[in-house]
Amino acid sequence: MLNHVQHDEAGDRLPSLATLAKGAAMTQPAPETIRTPKTRIACDGTGDGLANAALGHPRVWLEIDPDEGFADCGYCDRRFILTGGVADHG
Ligand SMILES: [Zn+2]
Repeated sequence: MLNHVQHDEAGDRLPSLATLAKGAAMTQPAPETIRTPKTRIACDGTGDGLANAALGHPRVWLEIDPDEGFADCGYCDRRFILTGGVADHG
């Protein structure tokens, strides 16, 4: 059989979820890292004094797990780092 055809595996043709997530992230501004002394914070994507509704998202409450020291906003990918926590390196 010289004409052996190699079948592409479907898994190689479909972009992985990770690739999709990366592509989506690239269309957005670089995520910010925000340090906060509170373990419970609200994020609406606009930030302090930055009332740009176009960049915002519905307000969500995030809870920082003290063992993790940070929480990521699922909407805008902002990372909130607990001041003095395990993830606070500066
Ligand atoms: Zn957010």
